[in-house]
Amino acid sequence: MTPLRHDDHLVVVGAGLAGWRFCEVVRQLGFSGEITLIGAEDRPPYDRPPLSKQILAGKWEIAKATLASAERLEKTPVTLRLGSRATALDVEHTRVELDDGTRVAGTHVVIATGSLARSMSFASSGALPTLRTADDAERLNALVDAVEPGATLGIIGGGFLGAEAATSWMARGLHPVVLEAAARPLLGVVGEEASEWLIDLAPDFGVELHTRQTIRDVAAREDGYRIEFEGRDPLEVSLVLAAVGSVLDLEWLSGSGLTLDHGVVVDENLQAATRVAALGDVARFPYRGDERIRVEHWQVAADHAWHLAHHWMGHVVPPAVPYFWSDQYGKKIQMLGHPRPDDQVVRVMGGDGENKWLALYAREGIVTGVLSLSNPRALATSKILLDETTTLDEALRHAPWTA
Ligand code: FAD
Repeated sequence: MTPLRHDDHLVVVGAGLAGWRFCEVVRQLGFSGEITLIGAEDRPPYDRPPLSKQILAGKWEIAKATLASAERLEKTPVTLRLGSRATALDVEHTRVELDDGTRVAGTHVVIATGSLARSMSFASSGALPTLRTADDAERLNALVDAVEPGATLGIIGGGFLGAEAATSWMARGLHPVVLEAAARPLLGVVGEEASEWLIDLAPDFGVELHTRQTIRDVAAREDGYRIEFEGRDPLEVSLVLAAVGSVLDLEWLSGSGLTLDHGVVVDENLQAATRVAALGDVARFPYRGDERIRVEHWQVAADHAWHLAHHWMGHVVPPAVPYFWSDQYGKKIQMLGHPRPDDQVVRVMGGDGENKWLALYAREGIVTGVLSLSNPRALATSKILLDETTTLDEALRHAPWTA
């Protein structure tokens, strides 16, 4: 790879975390050429994690989540094209077509278009509110401002987003009810055993959680919604939030010739084609050998941005260990690595009913992940287990979490 030169022009599509962080890091590394940052939203890049936490809890204004503040934009000069959606990519000419019919041609293209909230709609209510963008958070806050104190709010989906929204709405003196389709929340992420260890988080925090829920209909009413289920009485709520996962919009890349397979397929340096890369939620990247994964978490998007900027500036960089956190029900859940839900899991600190614990995941005797509940220090000292291949036996012998 020839390192970037001052006469190169980087066209970054997607003005979210990965796109913006890439611009910042490549400038910090000394890139002095042109950068055009194209974003479909009208706002300058902002951070999403506070949307379901401080912003939904009414503790922060949305402006506080801004990433590309005037000060940071001064240090990271870019041509911002906000409110512009890319509609096509010409890989050979590294050229992007926008929804206003204009084209932006550069020498390199970065695809950092993230993901979208999966929508849920019923004939009798239309599309239910979701939370992905700052506009969504503003709309939800306006709706919440209009309900009575203590009002019941229905949250469909007990995953990260649903749990965080419930926590935030509790903080506002409301009565969130979480409706989860699976036997336990996070089953598909942390697996059978660990999801069992987490099952009391919601009730211990005072949040009503109903699992194994099959929703038949959500009907809009004058003062809210009526949720109808298979096999139980309907629930009347003042507001409903659908927190049922995400989808990708790859339509604009369909004629590009890039390999699209549940994401934009990239190599270990995030290259989708010559001088075209993909980062963050949208990128499907190789992980530990033949496996290809796509991860929708903050740190992975930030690490991708760091990796690509270094790679294009001619530096060799090792891959990062995937990481996520979630603040829910007064606790912090954190995970390092990318275990499969059916990997072996061993709790090495804390036990049932304790507020703080640490667990290791392993597959074929090799450590694949570390999961912690409100134990950030033990998680951090255990990262060493994933920086290099470590057997479960070695991990248990060295017990870095005790350091
Ligand atoms: P995004 O941040 O989604 O940015 C993509 C941008 O591209 C968007 O602004 C979009 O409008 C724009 N775009 C899309 N298509 C086009 C197009 N065709 N043309 C131009 N622009 C386009 N992760 C954690 O690890 N911990 C958390 O606690 C956590 N909390 C979260 C809370 C919420 C409410 C949400 C929504 C996400 C949370 N995440 C969390 C996930 C994390 O925020 C994402 O993984 C991260 O934002 C991904 O960054 P990205 O740049 O890939 O995508």
